[in-house]
Amino acid sequence: MRILIVEDEPKMASYLRKGLMEASYRVDMAADGKDGLFLALHENYDAIVLDLMLPELDGLEVLKRLREQKGTPVLLLTARDSVEDKVVGLESGADDYLSKPFAYAEFLARIRALLRRPAHSVDTLLTVGDLEIDILKRRVRRANARIELTAQEFSLLKLFAERQGEVLTRAFVTSQVWDMNFDSDTNVVEVAVKRLRAKIDNPFGKKLLHTVRGMGYVMEERS
Ligand code: CA
Repeated sequence: MRILIVEDEPKMASYLRKGLMEASYRVDMAADGKDGLFLALHENYDAIVLDLMLPELDGLEVLKRLREQKGTPVLLLTARDSVEDKVVGLESGADDYLSKPFAYAEFLARIRALLRRPAHSVDTLLTVGDLEIDILKRRVRRANARIELTAQEFSLLKLFAERQGEVLTRAFVTSQVWDMNFDSDTNVVEVAVKRLRAKIDNPFGKKLLHTVRGMGYVMEERS
């Protein structure tokens, strides 16, 4: 079991580290939020002990950024015993919370409880009907068949899927996917939509990407 400790107070950090190592855990250390986030994202830990007040990047910011990509269980530490901190911490994706000072036995018990929990699942899967888009892996499947898309087709599909049920104008789609404003009578969007449909809609019985005449497009499952 591998644990990361992100704590800027050297005495506290070595106290935590010593106990965890005696309990046979492998321990890595970071003394500020930036280093802590880097390690948390690039290494694989079974749990992270995260201090709230940290230099460079505070604990909550580390937690928020971590949760965009990873579900590693996190125990937040703070010197302040405030309910507000606790609520904010837990809402930001912490699994547990411990106020300093605490007894080592309690800390260890919390760590053990944390290690028994399954990691958070990071919500990176978008679905529209039987179409599945894995945002992180950039994979698309429909009716269990893998669909290969170009980078631009993927961006276009992601935009429609993230805003499913909303009518998106051609001008909006252009500004989001091509990062520029075309003349409104350009057919760039129409051509791209046609190509996308050929892959995600045409081979399947039911259309998910619909044209709204005079307005734009909407992605939704219609019965
Ligand atoms: Ca601190």
